[in-house]
Amino acid sequence: MTRLVFLGPPGAGKGTQARLLAAELHVPQIATGDMLREAVAAQTALGLEARRYMDAGALVPDDVVVGLIAERLAQPDARRGFILDGFPRTLAQAEGLERLLKDLGQGLDRVIFFSVSEPELLRRLTGRRVCPTCGSTFHLAFAPPKAGDRCDRCGSALVQRKDDREETVRARLAVYATQTVPLLDYYRDRHLLSTVSGEGDVAAVGRAIRNLVGRPA
Ligand code: ADP
Ligand code: ADP
Ligand code: ZN
Repeated sequence: MTRLVFLGPPGAGKGTQARLLAAELHVPQIATGDMLREAVAAQTALGLEARRYMDAGALVPDDVVVGLIAERLAQPDARRGFILDGFPRTLAQAEGLERLLKDLGQGLDRVIFFSVSEPELLRRLTGRRVCPTCGSTFHLAFAPPKAGDRCDRCGSALVQRKDDREETVRARLAVYATQTVPLLDYYRDRHLLSTVSGEGDVAAVGRAIRNLVGRPA
């Protein structure tokens, strides 16, 4: 199973798990949030447009993200499979993805929903720190960097994402509840949905996912 979607609220641990499993499966981790943040940093036209939505905790328009995914899935490295992390997030995006995959003669193998309670999401998001250089993710309490406030991998100074401040976090959780939760039924109806508890430690969640995708942990 190599065509996977990781679905779940912000802070559920999708990015952490996608990075590990993608390396193991030798498929790309395709994270729309990372792609959009790169566009913002590069100050492209797309980045300038996307930034307004991201800073407010709102979703970037569907046609923009579906366009990004269409380009990304057409790259040769995505031919053998992928882990979509943070996409789709609306019904329109899920329908767009279905069309894109159909045109490529592909289909999804599984959609993995990460179930995590709201108090835990708040703890995870407000304590999250990221490396602006290599994209590694840490947590002040749950996954602390070894050297104070520097990235374990590359030594850059870690930062807090602007949208991880508490006011914006609340807006993002509300957006998730209204716009993304309907995808659970969409994928359940298509017999693609599996749920894992995202509440255990990183290794335990990783084992639950590997059991589902048929890989020994
Ligand atoms: P998402 O991609 O779903 O938004 P992340 O993978 O960025 O989530 O994780 C959010 C925060 O929670 C990060 O600071 C990360 O280090 C931490 N985290 C991830 N998985 C776990 C876990 N199983 N237990 C505790 N903290 C975790
Ligand atoms: P998290 O997993 O913590 O919610 P992401 O990095 O996935 O964070 O997303 C950060 C922001 O980027 C979102 O709040 C939204 O503004 C934008 N974004 C990412 N993915 C999408 C998407 N599929 N559709 C619309 N907006 C998106
Ligand atoms: Zn780094």
